[in-house]
Amino acid sequence: MYHSPTYLKKVFIIPQKLNYAPFFLLLAATFLFQCSSKQPYNEDQTTSLNVKKASWSIIDTIDYTTLNADIELSKPTMDVGVYLPSNLDPDFKKITLDRIVTGLQAAKEIYAPTGVQVNVLWIKTGEINPSYLSIQANKVPGVPNTGYINLYKHSQRHPAELTEHASNALEHIIEVEEDSHRTLYFVVFQDVFYPFLTVSEGRNWTMKTVRTGGLSFPSYSYPGTIPKPYRGVISLSNLERPDRQRRTIAHEIGHKVMNVSHEYMDISPEHEVYADGGLMVYGNGEEIPSEEAGRWHLERLLLSPYLYVLDSNGIKKWNPDYQENGHYYDPIYMNYSIDFPGTPAIAEDW
Ligand SMILES: [Zn+2]
Repeated sequence: MYHSPTYLKKVFIIPQKLNYAPFFLLLAATFLFQCSSKQPYNEDQTTSLNVKKASWSIIDTIDYTTLNADIELSKPTMDVGVYLPSNLDPDFKKITLDRIVTGLQAAKEIYAPTGVQVNVLWIKTGEINPSYLSIQANKVPGVPNTGYINLYKHSQRHPAELTEHASNALEHIIEVEEDSHRTLYFVVFQDVFYPFLTVSEGRNWTMKTVRTGGLSFPSYSYPGTIPKPYRGVISLSNLERPDRQRRTIAHEIGHKVMNVSHEYMDISPEHEVYADGGLMVYGNGEEIPSEEAGRWHLERLLLSPYLYVLDSNGIKKWNPDYQENGHYYDPIYMNYSIDFPGTPAIAEDW
């Protein structure tokens, strides 16, 4: 919940002569309420305390065996599940079951050249608490990246944090199972807003919020700040255009499993990068490049903790987990990361 500005407004409009006591009592009571209702978690917590769970059923009009006919034993594989609420508002038409299936099939094709498989576990439907149809993904950041370090190092120092409402939504929606923390969960929301800081003029910063078509909650942005069972969540809000049906699901998976932002070859990461060629920039590209010139995308993909190989007994042999919550330079990537300078956001002579 983000409500500080309301408090600030109240403080500023209270006349000097007024007795402050009732106001501070109210404030204290509010904080007490927040403390008792807040869900403290650590990353190993797997049980819900107060949030009521949604109940889901598998959509059985889909033939999952046919959908997954491409899956071969002994190839690295990621598991994907999809939650499609049944009580979306009637005017929300940007996502349909058909478009989801189209996007999943496209993701299988896009990852096929890497040898990595996308295994669709299920698509489930059910009614969710309507207050979770729209969420603000993260709290408004307090410290913008001033350019002394690059975007990844900045996120390591100042991780994005879920809003309490978003955290409760994930707890409400995502079912917790043994392998939840290494399963990718697409969740259809009507709106996911992502607030960020940008320079307005001079050395002044302003908050903007972007309506996202898909948000991957990547580990490089949220290292250790998403409860572990839900860290595989990816939101989906818009698969309307054919290019979104083709690329959005594969691109969002890429943020999660390559653990990189929008970058390609010699283009260093930014929040929004339009270029041709790569899956991880905005455009029509689908390439997942390798080696240092390709910013190690393929190598990072193959090391992802979300991948497993089935052994001869049908047991999933998972890649090792992150050692430091999955920031971009997590030791699991060894030398498969790029060091690059930050980009100053304002004129150097400020
Ligand atoms: Zn993206």
